Amino acid sequence: MTDAWAARGSFPFIDGSLRVGGLPLDTLAERAGGTPFYVYDRARVTERVRALRAALPTGLRLHYAVKANPFPDLLRHLAPLVDGMDVASGGELAATLAAGVAAADISFAGPGKRLPEMRRALEADVLFNVESEGELGRLARLGEETGRAPRVALRINPDFEIKTSGVRMGGGAKPFGIDAETAPALLAETGRRGLRFEGFHFFPGAQNLNAASIVEAQNRCLDLARRLAADAPSPVTVLNIGGGFGIPYFPGETPLDLAPIGENLARAMERLKTEAPRARLTIELGRYLVGEAGLYVCRVVDRKVSRGQVFLVVDGGLHHHLAASGHFGQVIRKNYPVEIGNRPPDGAREVVSVVGPLCTPMDLLADRVELPRADVGDFVVVHQSGAYGLTASPLRFLGHPPPGEMLV
Ligand SMILES: *Cc1c(COP(=O)(O)O)cnc(C)c1O
Repeated sequence: MTDAWAARGSFPFIDGSLRVGGLPLDTLAERAGGTPFYVYDRARVTERVRALRAALPTGLRLHYAVKANPFPDLLRHLAPLVDGMDVASGGELAATLAAGVAAADISFAGPGKRLPEMRRALEADVLFNVESEGELGRLARLGEETGRAPRVALRINPDFEIKTSGVRMGGGAKPFGIDAETAPALLAETGRRGLRFEGFHFFPGAQNLNAASIVEAQNRCLDLARRLAADAPSPVTVLNIGGGFGIPYFPGETPLDLAPIGENLARAMERLKTEAPRARLTIELGRYLVGEAGLYVCRVVDRKVSRGQVFLVVDGGLHHHLAASGHFGQVIRKNYPVEIGNRPPDGAREVVSVVGPLCTPMDLLADRVELPRADVGDFVVVHQSGAYGLTASPLRFLGHPPPGEMLV
């Protein structure tokens, strides 16, 4: 059992309701056309980017990884705040272009890029983060057919792994990226086939709260890039070393300390000035930019007691928010921070489990948490829901309607 109130985010509670963008939950619910809904706080996203830039060296490029949350209003809001966006499908590419991001500032990663997606990306002239030898060949042929030389960076699967990262992406056999040891041959191929080589892309992990391990990963990626650059057909202009910055979800987790990362990147940029003066150092972040700015809000439909255990049955669940159910990237299920959005914390409290309307025991939003005593009609709010929420969920499972979504 955890104290969900203590774990909650810092959204203010005023006149009997949690507020997002100054608005109480009943107003937001009305705007959304009812519950459940996702709401993202525009000011929080802006402030997050500002604070991040203040902690990191000037001149470092900050990209947004669209897969964390591709909600169109959010993309439009972020477009002028970041230096570029990274997409991983033709759909994300279209959404990003529609949000007003310049093609020059878009990169396209992901294994299994299909020819129609590649055609559209080539027409737009975005940067391809190439994931394999086969993809490099298909891209080269597409370039020859269309008479347009694709812009490419090689996504490298490093020959190391960062141990403390929440989600490990590098090292060993991986579907992502080109094994570091085969990169020299593909760099030669890139030159021979008339592709426009721009640089390297790395993505050594995600949801990392340990600054020292992020620093280590960045330095090892930079060392690897330095070695590989010797075989590159032209000078490196793009050096995307990924991100992996995590946010705290669970009791005992603390926010990432940006200071050592900022100092390390400043040193790296200083070194690049002489070693690779044309290289623009880039990091790409998804979750870190938007995760804490979003809430998922649902309403209690039933309060039932089964053999002494209280269940709050709500109108939302894993079909909208798979991650909160513990089935997206978690090894051991833990509760996301939840609270009752219209009950102050100082009244009567009880231990409850919050479950959704789906007929599966997986549809569990909170397992035995202490919350203010809630009843039918009350709001249950799931914090830290701005990233990997709706679009990372099995929306069609059991045929419930989709939730509302808004940026306020
Ligand atoms: C998923 C992904 C990201 C974003 O990861 P976050 O943990 O949301 O920051 C960035 N780059 C690539 C290549 C990814 O696949």
